Amino acid sequence: MPATLQSFLNGQWQRGEGVEAELRNPVSGELLGTASARKLDLAGALDHARKIGSPALQELTYGRRAKLLGQIADLLSASRARYEDIAIANSGNTKSDAAIDIDGGIGTLKYYARLGASLGDARSLLDQGPVRLAKAENFQAIHLMIPRRGAALHINAFNFPSWGLWEKAAVALLAGVPVFAKPASSTALLAHEMARDVIAAGLLPNGSFNILCGGIGDLVSHLTSDDLIGFTGSHDTARQIRGHPNVVKRSIPVNIEADSINAAVLAPDAAPGSAIFDAFVREVAREMTTKAGQKCTAIRRVLVPSSCAKAVTEALVERLKKTAVGDPRREDVRMGPVVNRVQQAAVLAGIDQIMKETEILCGGSDAPDLEGIDRTKSAFVSPTLLRAPDADAARMVHEIEVFGPVATLLTFEDADQAISLVRRGGGSLVASIFSADMDFLSRVARGLGPGHGRVLAVDPSIAKEHTGHGIVMPQCNHGGPGRAGNGEELGGLYGLRFYHQRVAIQGSSDLLPHLQAETASFH
Ligand code: NAP
Repeated sequence: MPATLQSFLNGQWQRGEGVEAELRNPVSGELLGTASARKLDLAGALDHARKIGSPALQELTYGRRAKLLGQIADLLSASRARYEDIAIANSGNTKSDAAIDIDGGIGTLKYYARLGASLGDARSLLDQGPVRLAKAENFQAIHLMIPRRGAALHINAFNFPSWGLWEKAAVALLAGVPVFAKPASSTALLAHEMARDVIAAGLLPNGSFNILCGGIGDLVSHLTSDDLIGFTGSHDTARQIRGHPNVVKRSIPVNIEADSINAAVLAPDAAPGSAIFDAFVREVAREMTTKAGQKCTAIRRVLVPSSCAKAVTEALVERLKKTAVGDPRREDVRMGPVVNRVQQAAVLAGIDQIMKETEILCGGSDAPDLEGIDRTKSAFVSPTLLRAPDADAARMVHEIEVFGPVATLLTFEDADQAISLVRRGGGSLVASIFSADMDFLSRVARGLGPGHGRVLAVDPSIAKEHTGHGIVMPQCNHGGPGRAGNGEELGGLYGLRFYHQRVAIQGSSDLLPHLQAETASFH
């Protein structure tokens, strides 16, 4: 019996009218659930979050809120097996895909629980200590960061129903800002179940955790200048949100994590058979196939020196052809489907587009025939590696994000050409560089820095130890300039900035110690 997803608003679970979205199993096409938020009182729900949730959360110190994050993490860990089943059924995840989403969410909660504990009994953050402003020594200023008063609308993408929910909620709740989560409809079952468990446990103050399952309706029109929006999703939706008349009129803060055509660069010193060559090939193949390539951080452009293009091609094609694609419930399967048939059609159309200026090395734009799987109901795409014969002339590979197991090989002659090719992505979340040559690594890292939120530089000493090109670590900045949305999430305490107003308070040196009471250092 398909589930009917509900929304938790105004302190109660509510069902919208009719059906706005169907949630399906991307292997069998089976209907798993439906969602609708039609006719729900969204304005009232936001008001409830602001009037009830915000003061209740802000009555607590950072340390107390951090404790709540730890309790949420423990509660979710206890039901991990059930969540894994949902991720396999609704998102087509393999067990290791599901781990990235589920454990990634729980791990981020735990990380912010630890970090928040270090802020202890504080209620605001001290960004900059006293500075003298005039001749009179006793006229000074400090910069405080004070939690905002509104609600945080978190609009998430379909590919990380758990991590997307908790990586945003952890930071907002620690900051003392109530969460109004809006998971992407097609895979909302996991977020819905997790939210159900957290709400049923009564861990969080009334009004501080709300979830909208179904379409966004006119929610954005009801935001005030106290509220903020954290968005993850496509470039097109990001543009609509940023340009929404209410967002523009009230200057509502918006943090955008949008699409990104990430690159990995292999240095000329990495000879075939070297540890760094092998690490590069392993990482590219892993990035292409994990979550069937549906990671905003996945490697889309593979830059290799022309001298070893043939060796990289052979090694990558061999790995990709060996990747067992199929029903993720099978133990031997390493890559499942994309999340639904709409996404499958978009990925196959994207491959067709890029193929106009590339050649196919493996895979392609036909859905694969897989044993025991109905091609007319499932959403599979073959791991597809393309090659642009002329990297400088290629255009689409730098412009089209194909959100599936697809990457394109590009060749370069020297570091400058590699940097300029990567920059043509127009701003990305992450790039990685593989080399044993520290000069090459640091030169390319600096060259790519202005266009990226994160750069992974792999030398042989960490070839097997690093956390991965596509894995977002809460200690590090997540976001990227330009096309990637110009957002910044996570990055330890830095992530809290979005949820605070930074205010310079000028006054006498007698006043400043009073203001500094109950603050913790932001740095
Ligand atoms: P999407 O179609 O843009 O949808 C994202 C979210 O926006 C969903 O919750 C969707 O709700 C909602 N939405 C749709 N129309 C809206 C509107 N007019 N106003 C406000 N919200 C609206 O993106 P997606 O297809 O789910 O996700 C794939 C994209 O996300 C890829 O491009 C990927 O690169 C990007 N992504 C980025 C990151 C990152 O951290 N930078 C992470 C993951 C994914 P419904 O589902 O109900 O339509």
